[in-house]
Amino acid sequence: MNEVLRIAVQKSGRLSEDSLKLIKECGIRFDSGAGKLKTAASNFPAEILFLRDDDIPGYVEDGVAHIGIVGENVSVETNREVDTVHRLGFSKCRLSIGIPRGVPYTSIHDLDGKSIATSYPRLLGTYLAENGVSAQIHEISGSVEIAPSIGLAEAVCDIVSSGSTLLSNGLQEVEVIFRSEAVMIASRNLNGTQQNLLDQLLFRIKSVQTAKN
Ligand code: ATP
Ligand code: ZN
Repeated sequence: MNEVLRIAVQKSGRLSEDSLKLIKECGIRFDSGAGKLKTAASNFPAEILFLRDDDIPGYVEDGVAHIGIVGENVSVETNREVDTVHRLGFSKCRLSIGIPRGVPYTSIHDLDGKSIATSYPRLLGTYLAENGVSAQIHEISGSVEIAPSIGLAEAVCDIVSSGSTLLSNGLQEVEVIFRSEAVMIASRNLNGTQQNLLDQLLFRIKSVQTAKN
């Protein structure tokens, strides 16, 4: 069991396809049949665990998974004791503040005394503190963009890629607070075999990335 590298990937979502593609491009073969929670690779001592992305940093910290692929936004927000060992270059997005369109905005200080809905209270709190802004953070787990229109908050802080979700909810993007991409995180308690397997995998990932550039 300890002679196998356990890799956590998102079960279903925006990271899943590219995470599995990367592992396959490294020449690792596995059966990712629908609904599976775990699968063993056939030609490399690895197992793949399919999890919710938010749970991946915790599993890696605990060593249940040895490494994981997750958005840097989630890795920073969950604040687990893990190492970021490689940046993967996919699932690029930004964490931004949006306010209702038409509301004038000159600087982050316009948010002083306002309430902001977000699923990223830690990242937002850090940014506000760094800028000396005191605002109320309302933590909600989903559908953040509707908060202003239902009177729950005056602004939102959420993941943006094209900006169309903000637009369709009558919001304008006014501050980018964090830029994210998928990263590989690793447990701090790998044994020699696991570290060696991770090094082999990283070597293959770097070769794949070099070949693409
Ligand atoms: P889960 O059910 O696993 O909790 P989720 O709904 O929280 O999934 P997704 O929407 O699948 O998460 O997003 C996973 C990660 O992909 C995000 O944390 C972020 O790093 C990245 N991401 C989110 N939205 C986009 C986007 N529009 N474009 C590119 N990457 C994105
Ligand atoms: Zn999630």
